[in-house]
Formats: sequence, C-alpha cells, structure tokens
Amino acid sequence: MRILVTGGAGFIGSHLCEKLLNQGHDVLCLDNFFTGSKDNIIHLMDNHRFELIRHDIIEPILLEVDQIYNLACPASPIHYQYNPVKTTKTSVMGTINMLGLAKRVRARILQASTSEVYGDPKISPQKEDYWGNVNCIGPRSCYDEGKRVAETLMMDYYRQNKVEIRIVRIFNTYGPRMALNDGRVVSNFIVQALKGEDITVYGDGSQTRSFCYVPDLVEGMIKMMNQEDFIGPANLGNPDEYTILDFAKKVKDFTGTKSKIIFKPLPQDDPMQRRPDITLAKEKLDWKPQVSLDEGLSKTVEYFKNRLKKDS
Ligand code: NAD
Ligand code: UDP
Repeated sequence: MRILVTGGAGFIGSHLCEKLLNQGHDVLCLDNFFTGSKDNIIHLMDNHRFELIRHDIIEPILLEVDQIYNLACPASPIHYQYNPVKTTKTSVMGTINMLGLAKRVRARILQASTSEVYGDPKISPQKEDYWGNVNCIGPRSCYDEGKRVAETLMMDYYRQNKVEIRIVRIFNTYGPRMALNDGRVVSNFIVQALKGEDITVYGDGSQTRSFCYVPDLVEGMIKMMNQEDFIGPANLGNPDEYTILDFAKKVKDFTGTKSKIIFKPLPQDDPMQRRPDITLAKEKLDWKPQVSLDEGLSKTVEYFKNRLKKDS
C-alpha cells in the first residue's frame, strides 16, 4: 500500500513510518517540521519506498494514497501553547484537509486523537464512553478542543460521506526520539537527571499519568487501521498508573543521579488523574502493551544519554 503519515517526522510519526516501511509499504511522510526533525527520519531517507514532503496540513494537498495516518499536531503543552491559534487550525483545518483527501481518493484515515479529550476526568480509569470534563476557554483548550472537533469531523465525514475512518485516543507515550526540548514529563525528568539538574515536579506531584512505550503504541495504531469492523474511538495506552512524584523518584533511581526533586507551580487545568481503560482495544484489536515501564525507561534513558553525548 501507499501510506501517508502526517506528522511523520515527529516522535511517534517517525516510529510509525519506520514500522510501515519494514512491513513493505510505500510511505509518504508529510511534515512542516514545527516540532519534528529530519534527524528522526534520516535513517529512512535512502529507502526508495520512503518520500518526504515538507507541507503544512492547514493547506490542502492532493496525493494518491491508500491509507492516511493523521498525526500532524504539536503534542507537548509548551509547544501547542506557543501558537494556540495555529494549534486549533492544525487540528480543525488540517483534519478537514486530510478528510477531504481521504474522501477524494477513497483512502482509509486514522486520526491520532488523545486522552486530552477527557480533559481533567472525573472518573478513572477513563473509558471511551466518558464524555470528559474539558475547559473550552483555558490554555489547554486549543489542543483539547481542537482534537475533540477533529473527532467530530471524522464521525461526520463517516456518517455523511461514508469515508472509512478510525479514531484512536492516545495516552501519554514515551521513548527514543522524543526531542530534548520536548517539555513533556518523561524527557524533562530524564534530561534533568542526566545533566544533574533539579527535577521539576509541578504541583505536589500527586497527579497521575500512565506511560506507554512507543513501539507498543505503534503496534496498536496499525492494528486499529487494518481491522475491518470497528472504527473506534479506542483508547491506546498503558494502564499502569504512577503519581508524577513516584515517577520522578523512579527516574532518579534509574539514572543514579544526585539531582534534587524540586516543586514548581502546577500549570492551569493540569489533569489530576489519567489512566486508560483498554478493554475495547483488548477485545477488538487483540492488543495490549507488552513493555513494562522499567524496560521502556531503561531504553529511553540510554537514548537520551547518547543524544546528550552527541550534542556535547
Ligand atoms: P510531535 O510533536 O513529536 O509530532 C508532531 C509532528 O507533527 C511534528 O513532526 C510536527 O512538526 C508535525 N506538525 C505539527 N503541526 C503540523 C502542521 N500544521 N502540518 C504538518 N505537520 C505538522 O508529537 P508526538 O508525540 O509524536 O505526537 C504525534 C501525534 O500523536 C499528535 O497528533 C498528538 O496529538 C498525538 N498524541 C501524542 C501523545 C503522546 O503522548 N506522545 C498523546 C496523545 C496524542
Ligand atoms: N510535569 C512535571 N514536570 C515537568 C513536566 C511535566 O511535573 O517538568 C507534570 C505535568 O504537570 C503533568 C504531568 O507531568 O501533570 C504530565 O505532563 P506532560 O506535559 O508530559 O503531559 P500531559 O499529560 O500533561 O499532557
């Protein structure tokens, strides 16, 4: 198949491109390099089945493809809040453009949605039928509401135009190729620990997250795209839940650092608990994460060690 991956030069997108190429597909990687980087895909460049397109999905594009994975969108709070209007445009206009393309060329399209559609959830674990608790006027809204509209657009193109859609709600994912300046908790803590800097816990660290190792996630996304009778939304994530303070302690242990844990103000609307219920993904996709946090974390620490060595 010929497969388009938008956001393909990003953290998750680059792993997806690599896996699809390994499966024998032709891959078109589209990216505007806002948070993505050529470094993430440089190793794919001499594969003749790989093409790189510099393009911004808020502009239409015409391509002949069989499947579209729509990942283009900054995912880290510091990056999606840098230009919030652009973030909303990327999720809304970008998803309209990709759905228009899917409709025209009869491609199947998978939307990378997010656990953020649940906002600051009042129930835990979160199931797909929970409608969420989202502030539509806060600093996270450009991302949360943008992704919620993207889901709405997917469902309406499905009902109105019979476009073949799939929706996955991705929970916190980590692993090699996260950018050093990504700003999310896993990269921040590991980089701080490796540099011997203070580890910055926001709030009192009692908020929780559940961390999925990136190859597990990519496996789930591909399974979702290629099964026939379930459009989603489906949660994809690792249900092992940690408080952020415990996670900071874990990173300290893993790296053997002398860094101190310090506390900084909790950002506005920071969700207090997040843990996926993955019953649907288990039943419909026969998918569950295989990699424990310990295993994934040690590989990710290794990756950041090498990155820092290269940069110094
Ligand atoms: P990332 O920032 O590394 O990747 C996003 C990619 O999209 C980057 O390469 C960026 O340059 C590109 N991009 C952004 N705006 C674009 C635009 N207008 N046109 C073209 N390209 C554009 O983030 P990631 O963690 O790899 O996330 C990928 C997708 O998965 C995002 O849609 C994100 O919302 C979703 N997601 C990620 C997580 C996670 O924990 N990593 C969780 C939930 C959802
Ligand atoms: N966080 C933190 N220190 C950091 C970065 C993040 O304590 O240096 C916290 C953040 O406040 C949130 C959690 O870690 O409660 C996860 O943040 P991240 O930005 O990784 O993703 P989110 O799930 O909030 O989108």
